[in-house]
Amino acid sequence: MTTTDRRTTTHVLRTRAELREALAGVARPLGLVPTMGWLHAGHRSLMQRARAADATTIATIFVNPRQFNEAADYQRYPRNEARDLAICEEEGVDIVFAPGVEEVYPPGFDTVVSVGEVARPLEGAARPGHFDGVATVVAILFDLIGADHAYFGQKDAQQVMVIRQMARDLAIPTEVIACPTVREPDGLALSSRNVHLSPAERAAAPVLRRALLAARGGWEAGERSGDALRDAMWEVLTSEPLATPAYVSVADGRTLRELDRIADGEPALLSLAVRFGATRLIDNEPIG
Ligand code: AMP
Repeated sequence: MTTTDRRTTTHVLRTRAELREALAGVARPLGLVPTMGWLHAGHRSLMQRARAADATTIATIFVNPRQFNEAADYQRYPRNEARDLAICEEEGVDIVFAPGVEEVYPPGFDTVVSVGEVARPLEGAARPGHFDGVATVVAILFDLIGADHAYFGQKDAQQVMVIRQMARDLAIPTEVIACPTVREPDGLALSSRNVHLSPAERAAAPVLRRALLAARGGWEAGERSGDALRDAMWEVLTSEPLATPAYVSVADGRTLRELDRIADGEPALLSLAVRFGATRLIDNEPIG
């Protein structure tokens, strides 16, 4: 399918062969924005970064079954390709690669890319197999596309670290670029999963941001104890009856090991995961 508007023509490709052919002659640098669709302003911001820096922009839309540790979560992940393609076109994306599952994982596919230490805690512990699925699909996409730059959201901070580690270890020359988290005016990080929140849950969901800012405020006031900052987040989260916290973390910004104390001048990551009914949300705040 090819559609046109004033700014660009977005080419939608379904197969590895089409992709190879389309990429053969494109202008460089080439910027890649991997997504699972149900695009929102967070995805748009990544596309805009790519458009600003790269001569050609490619987005991928693929709901990757291997990164869902619960089949029901995969089934109910929101999808609307026509709307997503219209957004890509509005953002001036040159190429969309939107393959089927068998195009990414052909029959007989039997490899897992498994990253070590940074993939283990937090989301890795809460969602067994999740980062294996992420690293595997991103390795395939990086290899197929050979982009100069790939743009990811800081909202998924651990994911960025896992992908950086994977690309470095596998000698994939694509540069991984982290982009700021885009938020609703009330502080809730945009996420495709927000669509599942009931009105009451949606009204309660900014508690994630409030908890992170409480801990950041503590740190800015001189608090360096990991436990004190974790307690500060926990207290805010548990004040919200609709929120069921899964974890709060004050971790080393490079290794994601939990910290007893935050050392001055060292990067740290405040992060948390919270359930609202069946919907699980994450957010984070880098400090230091
Ligand atoms: P997803 O479609 O959820 O897999 O996300 C695709 C990319 O968009 C990932 O790199 C995410 O980190 C990024 N992303 C998702 N939400 C946001 C947000 N609110 N702000 C910035 N980037 C985001």
